[in-house]
Amino acid sequence: MPYRLSALSRRHLVGVHPDLVACVQEAIALTPQDFRVQEGVRTVARQRALVASGASQTLDSRHLTGHAVDLVALVGGVPRWDWPLYYRIVPAMAQAARSLRLPLIWGGTWAYVGNIQTAEEAENAVIVYGDACRVKGRRPFTDGPHFELDRRAYA
Ligand SMILES: [Zn+2]
Repeated sequence: MPYRLSALSRRHLVGVHPDLVACVQEAIALTPQDFRVQEGVRTVARQRALVASGASQTLDSRHLTGHAVDLVALVGGVPRWDWPLYYRIVPAMAQAARSLRLPLIWGGTWAYVGNIQTAEEAENAVIVYGDACRVKGRRPFTDGPHFELDRRAYA
């Protein structure tokens, strides 16, 4: 049985770009892992607080402009943060992005997700991203719940 967006998720999509809303709506019907929209549009004040706490690294967040969503995995209706759950959401968002032809970026790798078809591929992509960061002497910053429309196509 496909999952459906809750009233809370739909409220959190208010103000989000319609293309990204369409992607989330298509993904919830495809995903084997239930999720909810935890956050869509964010205020500057909240973004400042998140950066101060280390939860975000930029004041130029795509959430400020309605080009990003955070999808939180639900197990029995309860939010969970374990990575394997997120690897199962990614292929659904990727499939939706492919069908809608959206340049969708995932916070697990900060790259296009459109090519990811399985949970294993999502997990491997995070490993490859982490290795690439370390080669450059940078610490990887991964954000499994986060998806955004590429700013090169959506300013
Ligand atoms: Zn986010």
